[in-house]
Amino acid sequence: MSYEFSNFGRRLGCGSGIGELMDDLGHALASGGPDLKMLGGGQPARIPEMESVWRRRLEDLLEEPGGIDRALTSYDPPNGNPKFIKAIATLLREQFGWNITPENVGITSGGQTAFYFLFNLLAGEMPDGTRKKILLPLVPEYIGYADQGHGPDLFRAVRPIIEEEGAHGFKYRVDFDKLEITPDIAALCASRPTNPTGNVLTDDEIRHLSDMAKAHGIPLIIDNAYGAPFPGILFSDINPHWDEHVILTLSLSKIGLPGARTGIVIGPPQIIRALGSISAIAGLSNPNIGQQVALPLIESGEILRLSKEVVGPFYLEKSRLARQAAEEAFGDDIAWRMHRSEGALFLWFWFPGLPITSMELYQRLKQREVLVIPGHYFFFGDDDQDWKHRHECIRVSYAMDEAVVRDGLRIIAEEVRRAWKEG
Ligand code: PLP
Repeated sequence: MSYEFSNFGRRLGCGSGIGELMDDLGHALASGGPDLKMLGGGQPARIPEMESVWRRRLEDLLEEPGGIDRALTSYDPPNGNPKFIKAIATLLREQFGWNITPENVGITSGGQTAFYFLFNLLAGEMPDGTRKKILLPLVPEYIGYADQGHGPDLFRAVRPIIEEEGAHGFKYRVDFDKLEITPDIAALCASRPTNPTGNVLTDDEIRHLSDMAKAHGIPLIIDNAYGAPFPGILFSDINPHWDEHVILTLSLSKIGLPGARTGIVIGPPQIIRALGSISAIAGLSNPNIGQQVALPLIESGEILRLSKEVVGPFYLEKSRLARQAAEEAFGDDIAWRMHRSEGALFLWFWFPGLPITSMELYQRLKQREVLVIPGHYFFFGDDDQDWKHRHECIRVSYAMDEAVVRDGLRIIAEEVRRAWKEG
């Protein structure tokens, strides 16, 4: 027996390119042996100091009067726990001097859910029958956005300027000459730091984007899953940005609590109220364990110290070791470039002129038990398949053990060399 699905069901309930890839990665991981090198996922690293913080907090919750009730046995209001929301507003006001009140803060079940709600709230089919889109000022951009639209073609993307740096480096820059906000654009959106590239939009780029959005009366969404003030996986010296038309998202995932599913949205009260309404309809309320575990760390500001002194330096060192391993593995005999690592958990490699596509490279690497993500998935919103660059890149996570990353990079270099030899 097979049932007919609605348009919604067909779009979201019948799989997607990235869903299939994740399934493929998952099966390879499940059936792989001890030599498998999982460099494909977005799983944050296990940081012993952070794990002991969470353990202590769980013990405290067990002992505090009412601790377990707040964390597990009650429904929070749909917008999140009022004490947690107040603590976030206070932290951002005190840390950055932003004019934020609890009305500007809403909680969702993870950042991913926040984007699903935000994109479909602002873009798609409008009451007058026209369709609006989310404009990505720079691709490659976070793969997790790609299939979130209830309708088709939710995104329009602008190709970046590629600035080559030295023999093997590069950095993407927003091409403002090509960035145009047409009447069918509902919002701008960018992750900062960017998954997959580790790029961090400069303060100038962000100011420019913010001014453009403001002038057109649309929001600028900044996805801060890796950024400041937490988790602080940010290696370049930039300032966080907020304004009354900015929607900033944060998450507890990359500081070490991905299982707690806690997304935090800072934005105009109208947007926050709408998110609360959608949360109530879609899920009644949000998981509260993450909010209760993190609450005292946010109230005391300890989360800032942990981000700055533990999480940020941990990833910076891992990035340094991975970049060094890449230099050694790829050497000077093949064409390769690595995006400047300014944050997030990934290295983004570009193999200019590679005779095979990144998808073929992915398959070959999988045969050798190295799992990466082929780059073309990150170029959604730009359909031009003739742009070779989109098939010449891969994303490699460096969050795993150093030996695993090093071995993985060595095998990637071997496969790239083999591809060149075969011509
Ligand atoms: N945004 C970016 C850029 C991400 O990389 C991720 C997860 O990897 C998310 C949002 C969603 O994270 P979560 O739903 O765990 O908060």
